[in-house]
Amino acid sequence: MGTLLDFLIWVRVKLSVYFSILIHFCCNLENILSIKALKGFKDILPDEVGLWQFIEQTARDIFHRYGFEEIKVPILEKTELFVRTIGASTDIVEKEMYTFADRNGSSITMRPEGTASVIRSYIENGLYVRGSVQRLYTIGPMFRHERPQKGRMRQFHQMSVEALGSNSARIDTEVMAMAWQILQEIGLQASLEINSLGCTACRPSFKEALQGFLQVRIQNLCEDCQRRSSTNPLRVLDCKSEHCQAQYVSAPSITDHLCGACSDHFEDVKQTLSLLAVPYAVNAKMVRGLDYYTRTTFELLTTELGAQGAIGAGGRYDGLVRQLGGPEVPGIGFAMGMERLVMLLSQKDKIETRPVLDLFLITLGETAYEKGFILLQMLRSQGLRVMMDHEGRSMKNQMKQADRQNAGFALILGENELVNREAVLKDMHSGEQELVELTPAFEDWAGAVLAKIKQLQ
Ligand SMILES: [Zn+2]
Ligand SMILES: [Zn+2]
Repeated sequence: MGTLLDFLIWVRVKLSVYFSILIHFCCNLENILSIKALKGFKDILPDEVGLWQFIEQTARDIFHRYGFEEIKVPILEKTELFVRTIGASTDIVEKEMYTFADRNGSSITMRPEGTASVIRSYIENGLYVRGSVQRLYTIGPMFRHERPQKGRMRQFHQMSVEALGSNSARIDTEVMAMAWQILQEIGLQASLEINSLGCTACRPSFKEALQGFLQVRIQNLCEDCQRRSSTNPLRVLDCKSEHCQAQYVSAPSITDHLCGACSDHFEDVKQTLSLLAVPYAVNAKMVRGLDYYTRTTFELLTTELGAQGAIGAGGRYDGLVRQLGGPEVPGIGFAMGMERLVMLLSQKDKIETRPVLDLFLITLGETAYEKGFILLQMLRSQGLRVMMDHEGRSMKNQMKQADRQNAGFALILGENELVNREAVLKDMHSGEQELVELTPAFEDWAGAVLAKIKQLQ
């Protein structure tokens, strides 16, 4: 009996030892495993950020050439805004939105696209009183809980453009020409596909014809299409299933159902695109994923990414402002995905986007370092991009840093140079060296360096 008790005590002690080791391991696990970014969320590192800036700057410049102004809107909005604009039966609202309860219990959503927020702001701030047509653009992150894949992130970035206040087909043409020009100027080949979705007067007759067509084939359609044939029949036309698509070849075409006004509008769009030499093709099956589109819709496609062809898309949304409680104001807009543009560009010839350092300031010795540190600030105030080393490294090492930073020039300031009242300016590309005279007045040094650089350039 005694031995059994001893054995049990021994087991308990052993177990508690193992248990404490396990606990210790688990407690440290958090320290061992470092924290990673969320799935579908990505850092944009310094090496790639240059491409982002290049695309953004080119786009901004073109937006401004077309008279568009920037508007910055919040990332969080009331969930209702997106349900009412995008449509309750869309993939975005049904499956993809980041929606959660705020601390006070109200339902809020991280914006899945840009248009809804811009229109909300347009109405809330009465921007329509600023002038008859408002041309607005915004650039920033959007959020959709999709399955992450190459080029598709849960936080993605869009340039989003809205022109509000005009029915004219010429606005449609301007907006498409602008999107086209952005792709041209950043150096991407794309094709433009356009369609008209009609208006509230003519779309119902098309819907009816389409529903009749679907009803006959309902058993042969995929589950999504079966459901959508009653909730949102237009959407079946962009079903991903080849089996469904094979049957839709003979589906009624929206372009055959346009009313006189929509038909004229579409003709004007096509004619003026041709006048501006913007190549396009009509794709009568393009319906776009959002419920609010009317009349013109368009997509910009590239073949360079294979199946994920669309790099930009948009359309007219004449009833949306009214639907959100604003005045009867028509509008048209588009969005372009930054990630795909960056991915396409990074596959092409290297574009030099890294900022270039004008000068690396090399100092040797304590006095030179102290003087150099103030000179650094003076040179920056003169508009130069300048850096220096604070680790007291060797001349050779500092020269290497200058090289690595791709500096145009290096300025060498040592104890001897201070005594002789001259510094050595080295052209890092040609290797040529020149002396810069350091006048007794310290405040003149930056000017002397700048003048010498200009002389050598
Ligand atoms: Zn119509
Ligand atoms: Zn289908």
